[in-house]
Amino acid sequence: MKIVDHLLNGLNYQLIPARCACCQGPGQWRLDLCTACQAELPPAPSVLETSHGRVYAGSTFAAPLDSWIHAFKFHQDLTIGRLLAKLCAPGAHADLPEWLVPVPLHRKRLRMRGFNQALELARYWGRQHGIRVSKNALIRCRETAVQSQLDAQARLQNVQGAFSARAGLPAHVALVDDVYTTGATCAAAAEALQQAGVERVDVWCLARVL
Ligand SMILES: [Zn+2]
Repeated sequence: MKIVDHLLNGLNYQLIPARCACCQGPGQWRLDLCTACQAELPPAPSVLETSHGRVYAGSTFAAPLDSWIHAFKFHQDLTIGRLLAKLCAPGAHADLPEWLVPVPLHRKRLRMRGFNQALELARYWGRQHGIRVSKNALIRCRETAVQSQLDAQARLQNVQGAFSARAGLPAHVALVDDVYTTGATCAAAAEALQQAGVERVDVWCLARVL
């Protein structure tokens, strides 16, 4: 979606002035949040070590980010999207990967939702760090149930074998997703990438559920 990409790249602050997403007062320079509300945000969690790589999250999953992520993902609220991408940038302390790989949606869900929030985040962060974004490295080869309605064990089974990766990938990539909960989706995606020869698969996400 061209328009989302354009809106997320920051140019549109001339069109939509920064306004605080919490209190509706004036925002900061190119940030839709005032300093007082920013001070109240949940802290960034520590880096999580997994068997496939490290998980970097910009924030802990808690209010008000939970509702902002919902607005971005399901209602394509692009002002909130650009705020989240900026505020919860996970790459600041990361050992930078060669590519960013957004967690893909199945094509049917992509058609229903209209855009993939993970791809938009990857484009934003890729531009910020000068990292290539590969939208075709992974595909979701079968439909899966919505993870948020399942318990941890069911989540693992739901996404098992749901991804396949293409050949010719670099040794170190980072998956991009909005929220990291049990890690089941990222583990299944990482497994497909590792089978295709990737050695290390980090995760960059907006928020992690603690
Ligand atoms: Zn405010």
